[in-house]
Amino acid sequence: MAYAAAVDFEDTPELASFRAEVRAFLDEHAALRRGDGSDWSRNGAATDPEVAADFRRRCVAWQRLLFEQGWAGLAWPERFGGRGLSAAHQIVFNQELAAYDATAGFLTAAQALVGPTLMVHGSAEQQQRYLTPLLSGEESWCQLFSEPGAGSDLAALATRAVRDGDEWVVNGQKVWTSSAQHADFGILIARTDPDAPKHAGLTYFIVDMRSPGIEVRPLVQAQGVAHFNEVFLSDVRIPADHVVGDVDEGWKVTRTTLRSESSMISGAGQASNFEAVLATARRCGRTDDPLVRQELARVATNERVLRWMGWRNQTAVMTGRRELALHGSLLKNFFTRALSHRVDLAVALEGPEGMLWLDAEGEGFWQYQCLNQFASRIGGGTEEVHRNNLGEQALGLPREPSTDREVPWNQTVRS
Ligand SMILES: Cc1cc2nc3c(=O)[nH]c(=O)nc-3n(C[C@H](O)[C@H](O)[C@H](O)COP(=O)(O)OP(=O)(O)OC[C@H]3O[C@@H](n4cnc5c(N)ncnc54)[C@H](O)[C@@H]3O)c2cc1C
Repeated sequence: MAYAAAVDFEDTPELASFRAEVRAFLDEHAALRRGDGSDWSRNGAATDPEVAADFRRRCVAWQRLLFEQGWAGLAWPERFGGRGLSAAHQIVFNQELAAYDATAGFLTAAQALVGPTLMVHGSAEQQQRYLTPLLSGEESWCQLFSEPGAGSDLAALATRAVRDGDEWVVNGQKVWTSSAQHADFGILIARTDPDAPKHAGLTYFIVDMRSPGIEVRPLVQAQGVAHFNEVFLSDVRIPADHVVGDVDEGWKVTRTTLRSESSMISGAGQASNFEAVLATARRCGRTDDPLVRQELARVATNERVLRWMGWRNQTAVMTGRRELALHGSLLKNFFTRALSHRVDLAVALEGPEGMLWLDAEGEGFWQYQCLNQFASRIGGGTEEVHRNNLGEQALGLPREPSTDREVPWNQTVRS
């Protein structure tokens, strides 16, 4: 109750006038979302290669438009091509954009991961070279972190980088690398001191994805799309000035990227919403069933709670009252649970038809969303790992026991 009284549900006069400007811009350049298969912004899920290519092209065009008209990177400093406004302005923009058929799709993720990391840890040259083309959508990025033996326990990773004159030579394998097949650059973590404990001997690099020795192999998911990839690195040479931060200090840099990642996922646009589930319930004639109505109410409630959580964070950002800010892990887990409940319900409402890849709407939208829920629940840290974070960081519970934190990495037991 104390928090309810403290959270602003209304915009400040400045944000209200900014919101009106945002709407005017969006009205001029995008159509309102219809919530069905005619929305191009839903096609990030397309299995047809031509539709998928068209989606990527439109994402790039949308980002370029935002950049050219001064709507990209609202909270980024002006020297990197942004507008130097507050995070609250970006939140308002995202809230309004959710109603329109427009997205920068995969480019948004790269901006959220690479942008803050280079702003905090990058050299002046790196910031100058990479940030503006990242924001304009001219260059795209991927994240080369996870490995077959290192996911939740990322610091256990085994990809090696060895110094050779003015270059580093990298060998190893990454996996689950989203959009690597389309990326110009990657952010890469590799082990530079195997004698140090696992968190201590890592270095963070920028790698040109067209470097000799990089092989990208798409991984086809259950939905039939290849969203992510395996990436093999064989004697890949990276110039020494492509190190971000200090050599062997890469974990500090990595933490900045990981923090941005979970808040990015919890704030991500959603392909489905209450209106879409309700439309399916109506189409299937299920809206009179009291149990269905109860579950629909839960979808609506979750959506409202998520919006209030966003407002609470917006208040924290606007007023500088950090005690109001919700932990990123709480937001991420609530977001993914609400998503799972919504998509499972929609498929159940379809009854036996829900088992068909192409349902009566002919597009398999819920079937795709149902399978895709696991991407959000695992990517950016699994639900279990985020619960551990909440236990340790929000509730102050004892740290999870670990036997290898202080042991040199090359003496640890690895899978
Ligand atoms: C759609 C998608 C996109 C992705 N994109 C990228 C990308 O672009 N770049 C990249 O580097 N990676 C990417 N990933 C990888 C992602 O970061 C990892 O999948 C994730 O960190 C989990 O690691 P893992 O798959 O190795 O699972 P594991 O870590 O092996 O976990 C297996 C199971 O054990 C549980 N578990 C593990 N440790 C603990 C613990 N300490 N306490 C309790 N339970 C635990 C997990 O919750 C999980 O259920 C992506 C993943 C997905 C699904």
